[in-house]
Amino acid sequence: MIVTGTFGASPYRIRDLQLFRDIDDPAVARALADCRIVRLPRGEALEDGLRARLYILLAGSLAVEAALGEGNVDRILPGESVGEQSVLDDAANLDAIVALEDSELLVIEPDLVWQLIESHNGVARNLLRLMSFRIRATNARLRRRQKLGEFYRQLSLNDALTGLYNRAWLNDALPKLVARARQDSGPLSLVMIDLDHFKRFNDTHGHMAGDAALVAAAGVIRAALRPTDFAVRYGGEEMMAILPATPQAQAVMVAERLCARMRETIVFDDMRLPLPHITGSLGVATLVAGQDERGLVEAADAALYRAKEAGRDRIGT
Ligand code: GH3
Ligand code: MG
Ligand code: MG
Repeated sequence: MIVTGTFGASPYRIRDLQLFRDIDDPAVARALADCRIVRLPRGEALEDGLRARLYILLAGSLAVEAALGEGNVDRILPGESVGEQSVLDDAANLDAIVALEDSELLVIEPDLVWQLIESHNGVARNLLRLMSFRIRATNARLRRRQKLGEFYRQLSLNDALTGLYNRAWLNDALPKLVARARQDSGPLSLVMIDLDHFKRFNDTHGHMAGDAALVAAAGVIRAALRPTDFAVRYGGEEMMAILPATPQAQAVMVAERLCARMRETIVFDDMRLPLPHITGSLGVATLVAGQDERGLVEAADAALYRAKEAGRDRIGT
């Protein structure tokens, strides 16, 4: 960065600078006359970034990467300024500023910025307008980032094939649901669902049809539950329904309903294959005193095993 002269001796015009737009006052011109102009060669960073100064780009272009911008880069063009916020709040400017081409900048020291704000309403008004644009842009960026974060969070907690919650979600949520049930002294039930002879289904109809069957089964579970219940893909062809505030008898009814609907589910839309296309075996368990989430899952697994042993396409308790 090399000082090349002063603004007063340069060919640049005040009215081309956004901060001084619509200001036709010789006093402003006089105040700026002694301000330095620096030259920033292409590719070079504005190393002066830690000082709270206002820079106005006179020629060339700059890339500004906000310190907390996560890779978002703003392009600054002649007439635009950087650093006005750090002058206003007297804090270091941590943004990375790099010249995209050979550039020239007008440097305005903070004292002069304040002097101009205090003596010229127009400067204060222009500055407010610039700040307002900047806040708007930052807000839009934050909203985008928030949406993106939410998207990735969803992605990491849901199973890609069925859209049900996945095991990672379960590991986090089930201990909390068990703790809440204990705290409220309320019931909590689990229904473990395993599709019957699913290996055979895949072998007979192919893996694609197997995937379609899993999606259909997940749809059955999702549609049968209340908004306060949760449907999880536990792994492979095993799924789970978590039923908060639901006693055993009611959970058995839910499981019966799921079992019946699974039997009626159409996987192949060409209708040549008679129903049932898929069936499931279901194990029901309800939290008992002294049991933790592992014990509850084991109890549901044991009940599922009994349903399999008894002939499949049924529920076990
Ligand atoms: P059982 O009635 O005793 O449960 O028999 P099963 O064949 O269903 O049980 P097993 O555990 O032997 O086989 C499970 C099968 O589920 C094997 C595996 O290929 C299939 N499977 C697991 N995940 C997927 C998947 O994402 N897509 C497809 N198409 N098949 C899957
Ligand atoms: Mg299985
Ligand atoms: Mg199975």
